[in-house]
Amino acid sequence: MNPTCRFCNAPLEVSFADLGMSPISNDYVAPEHYAAMEPFYPLHAYVCGNCWLVQLVDFEKAENMFSDEYAYFSSYSQSWLAHAERYASKMIAAEALDANSLVIEVASNDGYLLQYFKQAGVPVLGIEPTANTAKVAFDERGVESEVAFFGRATAERLRDRGIQADVMAANNVLAHVPDINDFIAGYPILLKQGGVANIEFPHLMRLIEQRQFDTIYHEHFSYLSFTVVRRMFADHGMRVYDVEELPTHGGSLRVYIAHQNDTTRPDTAAVAAMLEAERAAGLSDLATYQRFSDAVVDTKLALLEFLVAAKREGKTVAAYGAPAKGNTLLNYCGVKTDLVAFTVDRSPHKAGKFLPGTRIPIYSPDRIDSEKPDYLLILPWNLKDEIMAQMAHVREWGCAFVTPIPTVQIHP
Ligand SMILES: [Zn+2]
Repeated sequence: MNPTCRFCNAPLEVSFADLGMSPISNDYVAPEHYAAMEPFYPLHAYVCGNCWLVQLVDFEKAENMFSDEYAYFSSYSQSWLAHAERYASKMIAAEALDANSLVIEVASNDGYLLQYFKQAGVPVLGIEPTANTAKVAFDERGVESEVAFFGRATAERLRDRGIQADVMAANNVLAHVPDINDFIAGYPILLKQGGVANIEFPHLMRLIEQRQFDTIYHEHFSYLSFTVVRRMFADHGMRVYDVEELPTHGGSLRVYIAHQNDTTRPDTAAVAAMLEAERAAGLSDLATYQRFSDAVVDTKLALLEFLVAAKREGKTVAAYGAPAKGNTLLNYCGVKTDLVAFTVDRSPHKAGKFLPGTRIPIYSPDRIDSEKPDYLLILPWNLKDEIMAQMAHVREWGCAFVTPIPTVQIHP
């Protein structure tokens, strides 16, 4: 097998992180399937030495992964909803959006974001491949969706129906796209001349700095720097003209994209500053990527040392949350119920199931109060402030919070 870069087709030869064999991290195991086998696939990220795109090698079609059983509903995170509401207010003001505008969100999920535009009287359309989340968007929030994967064909179909967007949003979807060139090719077609597209994605620079290797999972094909994203859109006639850093998902970027020839939106100073920050962080140096593997092993050992020491002291450890990243972490570290007894999750779509691979049971959060563990390992560490505030009462029985990334840390 000679894998090639999903953007530029150069041969992929340099390993970034080899996390071994892992199950699909959103394939939560229902009780009736507990006795069944589950498939494991190699979870190995490479960096392209030509364009610097960090990526997984293809292993399974996306259509098989984002099925109707896909359990992720954006609206279960309060901080993510607040983030969406702030974005909507900002864009409505900045772009003077009104009843004659159209906001399209790519991967609109359950309408968590578009609902805020709709409430302000701005017409919206979601594009969402998962039929059950699109149905929730309509039934609960009145947000209509085109049930489809986004790409050139979907963009052309909508444009031919007279649909083009003043604002296009896409949060945490670019990384999930197997055919990244086809996806980006949809932008010049579906964005109105003079419109703006925003894309948010976890920033590779932070992933490396903060050792966020658990954000590597099979649904997540690409790990993106600003430099790469700007180059990819330029290849498709679009210009990234501004960038903001966001605290979401451990450090994300929100980029602003216009048609290449849109003179009303000149490049801001932030563009040059971000390109320079990435260069200074070594993102144009192969050795930076090659060193990451050692950091990953170091973080694994620290977590195992903590869990083993807790076990030897007779302390109990439960986890909080059942995010995809938790499944990468636990499978890579080989942690099972002997070290982490159970986890809890607020989503009713996850509680009652088991984590893939590790088969750690997922309960609803009240299980924490009945079991009173000594440690609560926060798997969605990007939401640790929110979770530590919500669960502050566990300190009454001496329970301490633990975060695993960048390295294990106890928060008494
Ligand atoms: Zn490449």
